[in-house]
Amino acid sequence: MALDPIVIIGASHAGVQMAASARDAGWENEIVLLAEDALLPYHRPPLSKGLLTGKISVAEIPLRGESWYEKNNIVRLTGRRVTAVDRQRHRVILQGGEQIPYSRLGLATGARVRRLSLPGGKLDGVLYLRDFADVEKLKSQLRHTHSVVVIGGGFIGLEVASSLCKMGKKVTVLETFQRLMPRAVSSVISGWFGRRHTERGVNLIFNARVEMILNDGRGRAAGVLLSNGQKIAADLIVAGIGVTPAVELAKAADLTCSDGIVVDSLTRTSDPFIFAAGDVTNHPSVFSGGQLRLESVQNATDQAKVAGQMLAGIASIPYDGVPWFWSDQHDVPLQIVGLASSADNCVVRGDYAGGKFSVFSFSGRKLVCIESVDSSRDHVAGRKLLALTNARLTPEEAADPQFDLLAAARERS
Ligand SMILES: Cc1cc2nc3c(=O)[nH]c(=O)nc-3n(C[C@H](O)[C@H](O)[C@H](O)COP(=O)(O)OP(=O)(O)OC[C@H]3O[C@@H](n4cnc5c(N)ncnc54)[C@H](O)[C@@H]3O)c2cc1C
Repeated sequence: MALDPIVIIGASHAGVQMAASARDAGWENEIVLLAEDALLPYHRPPLSKGLLTGKISVAEIPLRGESWYEKNNIVRLTGRRVTAVDRQRHRVILQGGEQIPYSRLGLATGARVRRLSLPGGKLDGVLYLRDFADVEKLKSQLRHTHSVVVIGGGFIGLEVASSLCKMGKKVTVLETFQRLMPRAVSSVISGWFGRRHTERGVNLIFNARVEMILNDGRGRAAGVLLSNGQKIAADLIVAGIGVTPAVELAKAADLTCSDGIVVDSLTRTSDPFIFAAGDVTNHPSVFSGGQLRLESVQNATDQAKVAGQMLAGIASIPYDGVPWFWSDQHDVPLQIVGLASSADNCVVRGDYAGGKFSVFSFSGRKLVCIESVDSSRDHVAGRKLLALTNARLTPEEAADPQFDLLAAARERS
């Protein structure tokens, strides 16, 4: 007898991987993937990079081709927003009232952009970047745009700034803190990328607090007013001020949430038939020693592999991946493995001035993070080293360019 399907809400990096892993784990019944978005599920990282500049097209960003879903009997319902989860009756309810029964449910609802809550925040010309429709909107408005203010000097804001700069726009980035990407990278990396942006013509303003978005008198943004009284005129405002986990369905269904849906290392929520993965989860991290919510493709994909197996009813190996992430600004690749936030000292390896180096960060003498600027060999070795329970890499070894990191990772495993 056919069982009710596995239903997965959210068809992005985590949702698609959950479906693939459930199928690979031997689930033979139907899998239903519910997507708010009408497009074939796509890679999000290019949205602020090559897709924005036009270097790549929408045809190049699908996570998997149309035929993969057909071949694997994964029913993709697009443009369908789920409005509720009925845990008692094992059903999800779609906008319009349609109900779909589930055997087990996967939540991969990701995150939504945080919106400006200040005067003028809703004016035309105030934009955000999370999905394909946002890129299209931004691109269509760029035709009449000379100057842009980007609010937020985090990864998304800086990637947008870099792309717009390449497209010949005059860009100002406003950052609340005194350095770029303050929550995610070491001050060495902040400083290096700060110089890179400045050299490329981006105007960086630190310790900036936006009081209001200025109105051109016709309901359109004309710039920003800062708390120190400074006015910066702009044709367009792009806000990259972070995201919040999309927990509304989980909360309404009374699942335990705390900065995301709380899951264990097997992606189990507080309901034994519901699993979650990706940006929406708050999960235990062996690496950090506490609960963590991450926003990265690596986390979404690796955690979803575990969730997919659990959805299929297969006992999985707990998720304990070492976090890694990448960014690209002004054609310089930045790769990060580990978490810089717990570090209290660091050493630099390589050519800092020439823009080919890595920052090895330590908590005491314990290696906790490696940030590589155009140095993918260090990144590859770093991923191996940080995956070891006791890498024992000393700051002296890390800083020595003759020291073979890959060999050390092999020998110490
Ligand atoms: C512009 C941009 C650039 C990025 N660059 C990088 C990068 O360089 N490197 C990196 O590692 N990470 C990057 N990221 C982060 C990365 O894309 C995310 O971590 C990843 O997309 C998380 O995947 P997810 O599946 O958990 O969630 P999401 O990608 O947020 O997907 C969740 C999906 O669920 C859907 N959904 C939510 N609620 C419902 C509902 N009620 N009904 C139906 N569907 C619903 C949403 O519409 C969405 O499609 C970037 C993100 C953005 C926006």
